[in-house]
Amino acid sequence: MIMALISSILKHAKSLSSSNLSTNYLQRSVYLIPRVGGYRYMSSDARKENIVIVGAGIAGLASAVSLQRFGIRSLVLEQAESLRTEGSSITLSKNGWKALDAIGVGDQLRDKFLEIQGIEFKLDDGRVLNSFGFKDEDKSQELRVVERRVLLETLASKLPPDAISFSSKLSKIEQSENASNTLLQLQDGTRLSAEVVIACDGVWSPMATWMGFRQPKYAGHIAFRGLGYFPEGQPYEPKVHYTYGRGLRAGFVPASKTKVYWFVMCNSSSPGPRITDPSILRKEAKELIRDWPIADMLNLINLTADDTLTKNPLYDRWLWPLISPPPFCGKTVLLGDAWHPMTPNIGQGACCALEDSIVLTEKLAEAMKSKHISVEDAFKAYGSERWSRVFPLTVMANRVGALLQSENKLICSVRNILMSKLKPRTMTRHANYEFEQSKRDRR
Ligand SMILES: Cc1cc2nc3c(=O)[nH]c(=O)nc-3n(C[C@H](O)[C@H](O)[C@H](O)COP(=O)(O)OP(=O)(O)OC[C@H]3O[C@@H](n4cnc5c(N)ncnc54)[C@H](O)[C@@H]3O)c2cc1C
Repeated sequence: MIMALISSILKHAKSLSSSNLSTNYLQRSVYLIPRVGGYRYMSSDARKENIVIVGAGIAGLASAVSLQRFGIRSLVLEQAESLRTEGSSITLSKNGWKALDAIGVGDQLRDKFLEIQGIEFKLDDGRVLNSFGFKDEDKSQELRVVERRVLLETLASKLPPDAISFSSKLSKIEQSENASNTLLQLQDGTRLSAEVVIACDGVWSPMATWMGFRQPKYAGHIAFRGLGYFPEGQPYEPKVHYTYGRGLRAGFVPASKTKVYWFVMCNSSSPGPRITDPSILRKEAKELIRDWPIADMLNLINLTADDTLTKNPLYDRWLWPLISPPPFCGKTVLLGDAWHPMTPNIGQGACCALEDSIVLTEKLAEAMKSKHISVEDAFKAYGSERWSRVFPLTVMANRVGALLQSENKLICSVRNILMSKLKPRTMTRHANYEFEQSKRDRR
């Protein structure tokens, strides 16, 4: 029933996107109220920049590297003092790797992380529900767990040393009357006048708020994650080991020769206070799976370095047609989590952020080189091409999460039947994304 619901939502979204969506969608810009209270537009003392990217996360750095391919320089503003080095890992599927290949960092990362061959689903009593290889039905599939730190460092290493400005928190933004320039003020008082602003400032994006987007919604689940470290070499086969209970799931996947990524996901009526103390996080994660017959997981949690332990309440934002604003305003555009935060239930947030970067930068580069295409045209084309991709995935991730986190006995039984029949093709289908540009090139 739930799968039927997902499929009907997807069909609905697809029919919207393939009909006259792009026109309806773009007309919504009229609803934007791009203002930050009390800030007057004064650009006389502002430093001029061509393209400013806000946020040195996955989307921001990938966009800067991608622009560089077209000989276009950008300045990346990052609020933190350095690249985010703490935190755990993410799984990147075929579409993420395709994007990383497009910007020339795929093979460098492949050298560091193991290719995951398949998945095994178990119940919390130890019974195996299903298992298969990711390439069983489609040899082109690729899945690896990548350390976020290494991904960010690899992307940053492709940029000139002065391309990222750290300790540069954007605090105010205003557009000139004819929207030809955007004035950005940093927390330290520095002012920049940018011709184009690419906002990659993450799930709590101030830029998205400025553009009129609603705050992301809490999905009712919390994820604990970490990276177990085996200095002498980790002992596991390169596959996803996934266990389901009622309202609880956990799993682990080898990332490299010495590191194993793990996660525990539980339900919670509220996101709760932000906890960063590793001893508390470790204790809470272990407590959740204490009675499960997976001693490996407890061992992994014990072997986890403090700076890789995280606890994240999960949020998303559904980009309803006609209600949600477009992802651009004048010459400012949103990418990645700033536009479409999604829950990690199908492992697509970062993959889609990477796809966004490729699509946007290709269109922007084309506009900057052409007399006939404006930057606004490029943003409109990006908005309609990407909306039809990210909205259905956001909904799907949320619904899959609701099914997998259910505490209802009957729903859990249905889930177990569905999981026992799950085919590799169904699980990896969303990774089969082809960039419009590549489709055009093939024609
Ligand atoms: C528990 C969990 C598991 C996940 N697992 C996966 C997975 O397996 N696969 C997958 O594909 N995705 C996964 N994701 C999603 C993925 O992490 C995000 O989609 C991805 O990080 C989005 O990248 P981003 O660049 O848009 O945002 P971010 O990575 O959040 O980067 C935003 C950057 O902007 C900076 N910033 C914010 N505000 C300002 C400001 N005012 N001025 C300057 N800088 C600013 C921040 O400091 C940060 O560096 C997961 C997410 C969670 C929470």
